[in-house]
Amino acid sequence: MPKPAATRIANLQQSPIRAMTQACERVNGINLGQGLGDLPPPAPVREGAIRAIEQNISTYTPSQGLPELRRAIARKLSRDNQIEADPDTRIVVTNGATGAFASTLLALLNPGDGVLLPEPYYGYHLNTILLSGNEPQFVPLPLPSLELREQDLVAAIKPNTRAIVLCTPGNPSGKMLTRADIECVERVANAHDLLVITDEIYEYLTYDGNAHISPASIGSLGERTVTISGFSKSFSITGWRLGFAVAPEAMARSINLVNDLYYVCAPAPLQQAMASALDAPDNGLAGLGKEYQWRRDLICDGLESAGMTPLVPQGAYYVLADVSGFGYANATEAAYALLEKTGVAAIPGSAFFSSDDGERYLRFCYAKDRATLDKAVSQLQGFRRG
Ligand code: GLN
Repeated sequence: MPKPAATRIANLQQSPIRAMTQACERVNGINLGQGLGDLPPPAPVREGAIRAIEQNISTYTPSQGLPELRRAIARKLSRDNQIEADPDTRIVVTNGATGAFASTLLALLNPGDGVLLPEPYYGYHLNTILLSGNEPQFVPLPLPSLELREQDLVAAIKPNTRAIVLCTPGNPSGKMLTRADIECVERVANAHDLLVITDEIYEYLTYDGNAHISPASIGSLGERTVTISGFSKSFSITGWRLGFAVAPEAMARSINLVNDLYYVCAPAPLQQAMASALDAPDNGLAGLGKEYQWRRDLICDGLESAGMTPLVPQGAYYVLADVSGFGYANATEAAYALLEKTGVAAIPGSAFFSSDDGERYLRFCYAKDRATLDKAVSQLQGFRRG
C-alpha cells in the first residue's frame, strides 16, 4: 500500500490554531483563537473586487503579480516603510505572506541550512522551516521583557546557520523590534552572512505611538533582507490570500520562480482590487492602530480581572496571558478547559514555544467587534480550576 504520509511531513501535525477553531465551532463558542479578524473589509477593497469580477479580470496574471499592484506596493513601501523597490524587478505578489515565506525558504536556502527563530515564534514559521528541510535554531526572548539580545543571537548560531526570521510586530507576543534591536540583527547578520527574512503582516497594527520599522530600511540590511507582508490583517481579508515579498533583484527572481511553480499567481481579481484600494484615502489604514488599541485595552483589562495576567502587546492583535495560576498541567489542558467552562477559545501557548515556557500562556486574538469582545470578557470571568 502507498504510505499515507511522506517522511518530510512525518513529524508535522495540524496546527493547534486550526484544531482550536474546529473545537470552538463544535461548541459554538467565541473564537479568540485563530487570528482571522472578522471585521468587515473597507469599502474600497470590497468594491474593487466586485468591479474586477464584473470586468472579467479572471485569467492568470504574471507570476510576480499584476504590474499595477506591484507599482502600488512600491509606492506604499516608499511611503510607509522607507524602502525603495523597483516594482518590475524586486516585488513578487504571493498567496498570502505564508506563500511568500514558503517560496523564500525554498528559493534561497538549501536543505539542512539553519534558520534562527526568535521564540515565542509563529507556529507556521517553525513548521514551514521544517517542511523545507531546514533546521530551526531557537533564540529565546526573555519573558516578560521579550528583549532581543545580541549574546542570545550569537549563542544560537551554529556552523550551518544561514538565515534569521524576524516577525515584527510579533505573533504571538506583539513585540515590535526597535531600531536598536534591528541594528543588533544587522551586526550579527553581517558578521555571519545571514539572510534576513521578515514577516511584517501586522505592520499597520501598532499601539501607544510605537512606529513600525522595516528591517530592510536600516543600515545595509536591505542587501540581505527579504521583506514579507500582505493585506490579510490590515484589510480583514485573511481568506483572500494576498501577500508579497520584496527582495534584492536576484533573490526576487528566485522567489518568483518558486512562486510560479507552486502557485502560478495570486487570485487575479483580488490583485486588481488591491491595486486600487492600496492608494485609496478611505482604505482604513490610517486609523487602524486606534481602531485596535481600544480592543487591546478592553481584552487586557478583562484578562487581568479574570486572573490571567496579560503581556500587554505593542502591536499585532494577539495577547499572551499567563494562566499558570489556575494550576492546569499544561497550556493545552488550560485552553480546552477554558473553552469548556467559558465558551471562549484561545490558543495554547505551547504552539509558540519550543521550551516549557509556553505552558504558562494562552494566546487571545482580539480582532473582533465590541459586542463579541464584551461577551467574551464577561464569560472569561467565570474561569476557575477543576
Ligand atoms: N496567522 C493567524 C494566527 O496566527 C492564522 C493562522 C492560520 O490559521 N493559519 O492565528
